[in-house]
Amino acid sequence: MGQVLKALGLFGGTFDPVHIGHLRTCVELREYLDLSALHLVPCGVPPHRASPRAAAHHRAAMLRLAIQGEPYLSVDEREVHQERESYSVHTLRALRQEFGPDLPLYWCIGMDALATLDTWYCWRQLTDYAHLAVVARPGWRRPTGGEVAEWLVDKITEDPAHLEQRSGGRVVICEMSQLPVSSTHIRELLKTGRSPRYLVPDAVLEYIRKHELYQREML
Ligand code: ATP
Repeated sequence: MGQVLKALGLFGGTFDPVHIGHLRTCVELREYLDLSALHLVPCGVPPHRASPRAAAHHRAAMLRLAIQGEPYLSVDEREVHQERESYSVHTLRALRQEFGPDLPLYWCIGMDALATLDTWYCWRQLTDYAHLAVVARPGWRRPTGGEVAEWLVDKITEDPAHLEQRSGGRVVICEMSQLPVSSTHIRELLKTGRSPRYLVPDAVLEYIRKHELYQREML
């Protein structure tokens, strides 16, 4: 018999490549929000940032390798298989339809993403379909001015226990380990012939080497 889902986390990103900052965040988000499962959602063609360096199928393959052995983690490849740009709000709407109106959904993003949320397509509608779980990240603070800050005033809550009764609509700031690791740094290391070992899982590094990813002047 399948597990009864209590709450589902969704962690979108470019994952170019996935690194220990993403993975440690998954572990802590699960515990903090008491999630039954967490789906990693690699984007295909991201609308609000430069194109990824590695093809979508490579980024998805690295994610699959990275989460091996963690049954509550999975990779949702729906955006990867889309030819058009992927918008988080469309993905969330589809997920809400799939899981029905009552299951708490958490769309998880880093603080850097919150700071520029107003550049996302239909960003205010994200919370129509899910809660927003914002993960602290080194060097980034909660926005204090501008449209995002104003929008947050009525939505923000510090205590995840307040969210369990609702399926979406709120924003929770999640204080967790802040590992100063980024995909940009890992690509930079590889491009300049240095090793990202221990910043990415061994299986991911093996995959990068095998497929000669990030090794040319592509940054
Ligand atoms: P890049 O350096 O290419 O911009 P990135 O390391 O920020 O990549 P993304 O794939 O863009 O990784 O991030 C996906 C999500 O994970 C984003 O919401 C981002 O804020 C979050 N994230 C990335 N790195 C960390 C980290 N070290 N700690 C917490 N959250 C992170």
